[in-house]
Amino acid sequence: MLLRGVNDDEAVPLLRFAVDNGYELRFIEQMPLDAQHGWERSEMITAGEIMVRLRESFDLTPDPTERGGAPAERWLVDGGPAVVGVIASVTRPFCGACDRTRLTADGQVRSCLFARTETDLRAMLRSGSTDAEIADTWRHAMWGKLAGHGIDDPDFLQPDRPMSAIGG
Ligand code: SF4
Repeated sequence: MLLRGVNDDEAVPLLRFAVDNGYELRFIEQMPLDAQHGWERSEMITAGEIMVRLRESFDLTPDPTERGGAPAERWLVDGGPAVVGVIASVTRPFCGACDRTRLTADGQVRSCLFARTETDLRAMLRSGSTDAEIADTWRHAMWGKLAGHGIDDPDFLQPDRPMSAIGG
């Protein structure tokens, strides 16, 4: 993640390091999941901005591999085989293809990173629910999730528990 005024001059050296060492690097737009609620959309470095910076030094062409539900748009670096991924989580959300579910260390299902409610599987486990009952509850939580994260809605509210409290 690039932060304006902190490391936004490091995109190119980072990718150069990854390519030289055989790593596949991901950049991601900063999302409003910080504990201090300091995220400002106007300050966020967008995927578009990341691409502009990288393209000053690399030739990036779309990776033809099927993306599926993967969060990153992948790009061949200088014709490949090196690849870089850019996750436009805010400016080009991929919620429509999202197949993720999250179970926190304290047994709560979060149907979406930005869900403001959680489903308590721990209580079910401790009260003797069957595997089938737990699976049904988990499935129901996922079927009922919102269509997207809603970051752009004027009434968007950040979840109470930040990323660090739900398992990173
Ligand atoms: S639905 Fe939620 S968890 Fe899935 S991609 Fe969108 S914001 Fe992320």
